[in-house]
Formats: sequence, C-alpha cells, structure tokens
Amino acid sequence: MDYFDANLDLTDEDIALKEAANKFAKEVMRPTAKALDELTPEGVIADGSPLWPFLKKAYELGYHKMLIPAQLGGMGLTPLQANIVMEELGWGSFGLAVQLAVCSFVPNTAAFTGNEKLIEEFTVPFCECTDGSLRSCWGGTEPDHGSDNIGLGEAFFTEPGIRTNCLAKRDGDDWVINGQKAAWVSGGTIATHCQLHVQTDPSMGLAGFSIFLIPLDLPGVSKGKPLNKIGQRDLNQGELFFEDVRVADAYRIIGPDTYSTMEEGTLALANAWMASWATGLARAAFDEAFAYCKERVQGGRPLAEHYSIKQRIFEMFARVETCRSLTRMAINLNMNIAPGFPEYSMAAKTVATKLCLENASDAIQLFGGNGLSKEYLPEKLFRDARATLIEDGNNEILARHGGHTLFQTYPRPRSTIPRI
Ligand SMILES: Cc1cc2nc3c(=O)[nH]c(=O)nc-3n(C[C@H](O)[C@H](O)[C@H](O)COP(=O)(O)OP(=O)(O)OC[C@H]3O[C@@H](n4cnc5c(N)ncnc54)[C@H](O)[C@@H]3O)c2cc1C
Repeated sequence: MDYFDANLDLTDEDIALKEAANKFAKEVMRPTAKALDELTPEGVIADGSPLWPFLKKAYELGYHKMLIPAQLGGMGLTPLQANIVMEELGWGSFGLAVQLAVCSFVPNTAAFTGNEKLIEEFTVPFCECTDGSLRSCWGGTEPDHGSDNIGLGEAFFTEPGIRTNCLAKRDGDDWVINGQKAAWVSGGTIATHCQLHVQTDPSMGLAGFSIFLIPLDLPGVSKGKPLNKIGQRDLNQGELFFEDVRVADAYRIIGPDTYSTMEEGTLALANAWMASWATGLARAAFDEAFAYCKERVQGGRPLAEHYSIKQRIFEMFARVETCRSLTRMAINLNMNIAPGFPEYSMAAKTVATKLCLENASDAIQLFGGNGLSKEYLPEKLFRDARATLIEDGNNEILARHGGHTLFQTYPRPRSTIPRI
C-alpha cells in the first residue's frame, strides 16, 4: 500500500527516493527478514544465509552510505531525504535497517572528522564497496555498563571509582586495548570495522572515554556467539573481545576532553534514525491492520464497517503521523543545525518507539487469533517493536537525559542558533 505523505513540499527527487526505497523494502527486505526471523542466530550469519545477498543488494543501491557527502562517494542525502528513506527501510524491517545503519558508522564518522587519512582508509573504500564485504559496528555497551555509558549529565558519570569492562592504555605512540564489549553490539559478529567507545582515563570515570575507529582483523580481537533474542532476529549481535590489541594513536578520533559532547551528538543522530525506523514500523502495522479490516468479515460485513474498528484504525493512523512529524522535526534540527538539539531526538525516539509498539499490538488485536500466528506479519512486528524501547538507550534513561538537557537549555534563544 502506498501510504500518503502529508508533506506537500516533497520534490520529485524526494518522491523518487521514497518509491525506490519502498520497492527495496517490499521486494528485498520483507522476504529476507521473514527468512532470517525463522533461522537460529548462527544460521543468520552462516554461509548461504539470505543476509549476504540482502547486504549485496543494499550496498549496490547505496543504502550503507546515505549520509556520506556525495563528493566522498556517498549518497549525500538531505536530512529530510534520509528520514524518508529510513522510514521505508524501517517499514521493510527494523532489524535490517539497523544492520545497514551500523555498517555505515565507521565511514560516516571518518567523513565527519575531515581527517584525510581516515577518509582515505575508511570512508572511500566503504563508499566504493558494492558487495557488502566492508561492514562496521558500534561498540559502546559493556556487560556491566549499559545505561551507564549514556548517562551523560548523571552525577555518577564523572565518578572516578567506576570500573569499565574494557580499557585502553597508552603505550608510546600506541594504545593497548583489553577487555570486552557486551553481546548487544549490533552487527558485531560480522563486522570488519568498529567505532569503539572505550575508557582511556579512569580518573574521569565514565566521562573518561575515547573513540577509536579500528579494523577488527587486528591481532587480539575475537568475537562472541550471536545472541538469541525475542525480536529483530534478523539483526545479529555479539560480543567483541580485546586482548592486548595494539592501535596507533592516529585511530583515536576523540579523547576524554570532547567525548561527552561527541557522545551526545551521536545519540542525537542515532535516536532520530531510530525514530525514523519506528515510524516505518508503526506504518507497517497500520498497513497490515487496514488491509485486513477491509477483508475480514464478521457480523456479515467487513470489520472496516464496524464503527469501533474505524476508531481504532484512526488511532493507529494518528500514531504514524505523530511519529513522522516529531521525527522530522528532530532530524531537521539535528542534521541541519549545530550544535544539535538532543532533547528533540530523545523525544522522537521515546515517543515513536512507544507508539510503534502500540500499533503493532493493535494490529495483533485486529487480526484476532491470526495476529498471534507466524503466518501473519503483526506477530513479528510486535516482537521487533518491543526491542526498540531498550535499543540505542532505553527510554527511561533517554527521558532522564532529555529532561536534564531541557533544564540546562530551555528556552533556547533563537538568535544564538547557528546553521551548518
Ligand atoms: C536491539 C538492540 C540493539 C542494540 N545495539 C547496540 C549496538 O549496536 N551497540 C552497543 O554498544 N549497544 C547496543 N545495544 C545496547 C543498548 O544500548 C543497551 O541495551 C541499553 O543502553 C540499555 O542497557 P542495558 O541493557 O545494560 O540495561 P541496564 O542499563 O542494565 O538497565 C536496566 C533497567 O534499569 C533502568 N536503569 C538503568 N540505569 C538507571 C538509572 N541510572 N536510573 C534509573 N533507572 C535506570 C533502565 O531503565 C532499565 O529498565 C542494543 C540493544 C538492543 C536491545
């Protein structure tokens, strides 16, 4: 079904991007996601898995480099275009949309640094890659530090006593990394590169982190087994282990002095992407329910002709439009304007993930018994949606940080806001 976009200012180019992404979502993502959902976690990443042709096709179309500037070989999408495409990918499959996004972390960040050597080593080859063989991941969460690691602004964040599970120590011109990242690293089991957030100055506690861009074929790196989980089963996840891994200082792009600002900027972007995929998932649930209610007959007439059904369908529609409006606001503010408005992205992420779960749940209810069956999509949408409330920072921690940001910045004087 072609869901109407109420933004009447979309250009022909925007609409063409939306249609192409929808075709990819419908014809490639949906069947791949269904097949992967039924496999074991090991099967998802095994030779012969449908994951590999999916990645190849996605890379051919450039969906791993959407935000990289065109002059560096990326798609160079505008913030609105990025939102439009991400919503379609989220409609196709939330888990596979995340997989593609994490693949782009290292080349995106290298491009952002403006460092020619890093761009040459990471951004250019990723942009030229059309077979899916170069894939990155984001290694932030640790077994003992999930919410902690994004607890920016919390009193404990700068407490020196907190011990992390992974530590990088300076040794001459290099850093030596020891420890591990949690089983939650998306795409970690198949990644060739990592954007690693790791403590380098324990005296600053959780604020004493640095960010490294590293290849994962360095001596001393190993990976855990893929995680078995309730939803987004098409998104593989697993631990990263580091044993005396030696990395040149040139790969450290951020030190503790600017880490908190960079972490907040990363969250502001990643939360807005999460909200875009959640909009797509909310819309997928709406589409399923809408179509089913026109077909399924009870009381001698289609469900759609019963008034309480119309009301529920309308509420689902309103949730999609709420997700989309708030998300576009967040994307526009955080991708067009420096230094960013994390509170808008956190509002978009927490609201859109909650509403996509409500839509998935309502779709199940409207399908009746069929909604619980794996024969129909709502069952998978519900499991995928449940994970989004925890993913990329659970909603409680994001709301706490969003509130903290508001008390520091609100109201923002309009005249002080620079455009990029
Ligand atoms: C599908 C998925 C994909 C993910 N992908 C990645 C990835 O690519 N890379 C990566 O590094 N991580 C990833 N994560 C990890 C994710 O960011 C963490 O799961 C998340 O930050 C929560 O951490 P936790 O699971 O350790 O929960 P915990 O931090 O242990 O929290 C457990 C509960 O306690 C509450 N809580 C925690 N701290 C506080 C506090 N200070 N005050 C009040 N309440 C609190 C929380 O609200 C939560 O309900 C992913 C997670 C999921 C589910």
